[in-house]
Amino acid sequence: MFLSTRGRVLLNVEALNMTESVGNYVKHRRVPVILPDAGYTTLFVPAISGESIAHGFQTVLAEIAKKNGLPVCKLCEKGIFLKSTNNNVFREAFGKEPSGNLEEDVIKGCVVEDIGGFLYAEEANVKRTSSFFTGYMIPAKEALENAVIEPQLHSRYALGTPFVRKEEQGEGRGQMIYYVELSSAVYTFNFDFDSRFVGKTTFSYENAGKEVVNDRKKRIEAALETFRRFILEFCFGAKKTRFMPVIEWESLVLAVSDDVWTVPSPFAKNYIEKTRKKLEKIKENTKLFVYPDGGSLEEVVVNAIEEAKKRI
Ligand SMILES: [Zn+2]
Repeated sequence: MFLSTRGRVLLNVEALNMTESVGNYVKHRRVPVILPDAGYTTLFVPAISGESIAHGFQTVLAEIAKKNGLPVCKLCEKGIFLKSTNNNVFREAFGKEPSGNLEEDVIKGCVVEDIGGFLYAEEANVKRTSSFFTGYMIPAKEALENAVIEPQLHSRYALGTPFVRKEEQGEGRGQMIYYVELSSAVYTFNFDFDSRFVGKTTFSYENAGKEVVNDRKKRIEAALETFRRFILEFCFGAKKTRFMPVIEWESLVLAVSDDVWTVPSPFAKNYIEKTRKKLEKIKENTKLFVYPDGGSLEEVVVNAIEEAKKRI
């Protein structure tokens, strides 16, 4: 089963992906993007990284897998995604030494690493590619030139208290004023999930594709439930305690297929039309779920997930 999702979401006043702070100034992530006008202009625009989205997805996956009685390692269950980086991390996460087949150990012991992949970077490297795929959210084509980043001043000074007495200022007493860069734009969103290798080894060519768990179906169901919550509750991005953006999905397309079939890029406005045209030519028993044409966001996502579950 292959689930492909593309969408456009209007995010007003967001600080979902910050890069560095220079003194009291916190910067929003920026990336170069080509605007395909007459001269292919390069613009530096606000963006939200795929790593940030993947972190959010795996945090929800760890919770749902645990709730459904599936194994999650000691680190991933706390949202620490070191993911079997080396021998020390492996021992801490699983409470044992790796056996002769490290990939099999990790798959059996942790659904997050089974689905989200890992890289064991000891003298003999072992890598597992993630079963889900995502990337940078960037402003949609028509919004590229109008996407803004603006620093906002904040202060938590408590004037009139002894903590900010004049003679003590400049000595680091009291709290500094600070700036946070906020952005507003219509962002593109991409996310694919391929259930093919869930619960199966992939690394060594002798054993590639061998099923090593007896709860593969439950694991895929957990990934789908994760996706549903992740989209509907917008479970990604940073600084949401005080910079929760105003979120409005403009459109979302989900395609459920028996094999790889991806929805075209949402960068251009006519992507839904392009998706339907693609479906006329190429099918992998593909069924489309389109918001807003196919109902409310909740209806569309829930129906797509139900269809995906039927195909496991
Ligand atoms: Zn883990």
